[in-house]
Amino acid sequence: MGLKRVSIFGATGSIGQNTLDLIGRDPARFQVDTLTGGHQIDQLAQDAKTYGARLVVTAYDDHYQALKSALADTDIQVGAGPSAMKEAASRPVDMAMSAIVGAAGLEPGLTAMNAGADLLLANKESMVAAGALTRTTAQNNNVALLPVDSEHSGVFQALQGERRDTIERVILTASGGAFRDYTLDQMQSVTPEQACDHPTWAMGQRITVDSASMFNKALEIIEAKELFDIEPNQIDVLVHRQSLVHALVEFHDAGIIAHVGPHDMRHAIGYALYSGTRAKLPLERLDFTKISRLDFAAPDRQKYPSIDLAYQVMHAGGLMGAAFNAAKEKALDAFLARQIGFLQMSEVVKSVINTLSDMEHGFEDALNLEHILGMDALARELALRVCATQK
Ligand code: NDP
Ligand code: MG
Repeated sequence: MGLKRVSIFGATGSIGQNTLDLIGRDPARFQVDTLTGGHQIDQLAQDAKTYGARLVVTAYDDHYQALKSALADTDIQVGAGPSAMKEAASRPVDMAMSAIVGAAGLEPGLTAMNAGADLLLANKESMVAAGALTRTTAQNNNVALLPVDSEHSGVFQALQGERRDTIERVILTASGGAFRDYTLDQMQSVTPEQACDHPTWAMGQRITVDSASMFNKALEIIEAKELFDIEPNQIDVLVHRQSLVHALVEFHDAGIIAHVGPHDMRHAIGYALYSGTRAKLPLERLDFTKISRLDFAAPDRQKYPSIDLAYQVMHAGGLMGAAFNAAKEKALDAFLARQIGFLQMSEVVKSVINTLSDMEHGFEDALNLEHILGMDALARELALRVCATQK
């Protein structure tokens, strides 16, 4: 097994840091090529030195000098801004970790696959906004598309050796997020600080708030449909407080294969990094004698309208996923900036989806990146307008 050259887009984030942790433990197998980040320049520079990166890029032009000076005493190449990001993604590597948050992660992932890299996909927004294009790009380049989202990694693992046409149902579990024990009424007035407190997983801020609203699960439902090419009515969600069962796949013969493991993202990252094989990973082992119970319940659709929105989006098809993700990102920004309330996020997204369903928008081709980005921009603009009327 030769040395694998790996690039990480979003290296300074939660997934990026966990990926570096695993890579650093196996220098005989992995060589870091490129690391990209955003605002966390010190972290990025430090990691570049620690892990021996060839190139580091910040997504923002403004940070170029800071990054350059932080690496002045090294021969590590430095870049900044959109064109440097594009060049970084075009480098010939064996695998690329797509761990930027939001739709900003789409293009680096596509570019990396077009340059021949297997894509380790944490950035679920790519599948929601551009599932067909992402899948087709992987096929056309004959590269692997490996899920990193824990539920999808669980499904992917449960499907090894199984025929896809024997899947009856895929069940994704959800922790229920920060407000799982709140009433709908109590959820009216929650703050961003409260929403950032996840009961089981340690993750980036945006996905943590999305877990509290279950927009994260809504994105994951669409992600599952796109990754595994299944129908919307084959996908279910169960609230499972302990976050130990990540996904279940039910087959035609009534057998169910569940994926169970500790809530540590390095498991799913490791399965992808080792190309769908089982490496010895430094993770806590589950002790079933200490796990007294595993709870499962249907999600409360009143508290979490985002779930129904996901099905509406899948049934609409086309570019509605791109609109859904973009509107959700804008609604989340507005909530974090205290411009709208927590429950208003789904009202904003719903309003954008409904408006676009009634509109002739001219973006139709789900395999065309310009159309996807056009729909994304249009939905953001509409969401901003709706947010402004929400106060
Ligand atoms: P974080 O917020 O922790 O990290 C995001 C990373 O992306 C950082 O490196 C950040 O740079 C960079 N970044 C942010 N905005 C931009 C931009 N516009 N252009 C380029 N880079 C940018 O997120 P997570 O690690 O939590 O999540 C990453 C992805 O993985 C998301 O799509 C998320 O949904 C998915 N995911 C995450 C899980 C988790 O456990 N965290 C679980 C399953 C999926 P900087 O911080 O330097 O500004
Ligand atoms: Mg997940």
